[in-house]
Amino acid sequence: MDIAALSSTKSLRRNVLKWMCLCFGFVSLFFAAFNIIVNNFALLGYLEIALSVFCAYTYYRLNTHALEVWQSVVMCIFVTFVIVLGNYLAKPINGVYVWSFALPILYYLLLGKRYGIVLSALLFVLQGAILVTKSSQLPLTTLNFSLNLAFVYISIWAISHVFEGSRALSSKRLKNLALLDPLTGAANRLSMNHYFEVELRDKSQLYLFLLDLDYFKQVNDTYGHAVGDKVLIEVATLLRVLLAKGYVFRVGGEEFALLHSFTSQNDALTMAETIRSKLNNTALDIDGLNIKVTASIGVVKYHQGDTLEKFVIKADKQLYKAKEFGRNKVYFQSSAHLNEKPQVA
Ligand code: GH3
Ligand code: MG
Ligand code: MG
Repeated sequence: MDIAALSSTKSLRRNVLKWMCLCFGFVSLFFAAFNIIVNNFALLGYLEIALSVFCAYTYYRLNTHALEVWQSVVMCIFVTFVIVLGNYLAKPINGVYVWSFALPILYYLLLGKRYGIVLSALLFVLQGAILVTKSSQLPLTTLNFSLNLAFVYISIWAISHVFEGSRALSSKRLKNLALLDPLTGAANRLSMNHYFEVELRDKSQLYLFLLDLDYFKQVNDTYGHAVGDKVLIEVATLLRVLLAKGYVFRVGGEEFALLHSFTSQNDALTMAETIRSKLNNTALDIDGLNIKVTASIGVVKYHQGDTLEKFVIKADKQLYKAKEFGRNKVYFQSSAHLNEKPQVA
């Protein structure tokens, strides 16, 4: 599965910004000519030329590069500034303020709810203040006209807010559905691929612990599958607590992969041993039953050029040895680290 399919927010924002660049790029160029030649608003005209140059540059960059947040921020602020200035300089009869109705939609689509609410409120206050000072020049200086303007803006703002809120929530839910193991809440194998291939920049100190529970079939046979499930949930929670800064992935039925960077091999082995002994010494309280499980752990250090597949195969070999030589053990490369005292290979 292509993990990029799960970054729906990123691709939506990239597309919106690209289309915004196209539209505003041409429109502001047209108005720049109009404002410089016909209206004599040179400052506004030059700003509009700058905006279309920014649009062209951003459009070009987005064709070859990923979206960066600053591009959306600059675009929103730039467009807002040009529209507010246009409203300030031009007579209300020109209708520059009408553009304001499009902006909350763009704020929310490009920057999300938090920035959306701040920028929409700011624009409302600014444009409102400008129109109030020019109220005598408005086409219809009635209360009705002002109320209509205000309520149309507020309605578009509210709808944008609700739309973005539910879009972000469903995108998050979909992502969790695809990346988290539904039983234990640990990240799944797809998530591990993504983390290893895309997110993890520096792998130089990376260690992989491949952990398999010992004789887990007996837990199911003795207490039933439902209790076995709860044991897996407790084990995943315990691993997440112990490996606070690392990542826990459920990669098989009762098999977990842990990724963590350590400054020394000794630190990595001490952590693996801590996990093993903690499991060994903890009686899990499942529905009033005290259940003990142990784990065998294969540990490997990342070597430059290792693919995730190769990395896991190497860890699996160590795990196999830990099983073969009695279980409830940590194995690192060719050396065994028996119980309490892990030794450096
Ligand atoms: P070993 O020490 O060799 O690892 O022995 P084991 O019994 O843990 O290994 P084996 O691979 O023979 O069995 C794994 C068991 O894990 C079998 C299966 O019933 C159980 N299992 C796998 N996934 C789940 C699950 O989601 N829930 C429960 N309750 N059990 C599971
Ligand atoms: Mg097992
Ligand atoms: Mg297994």
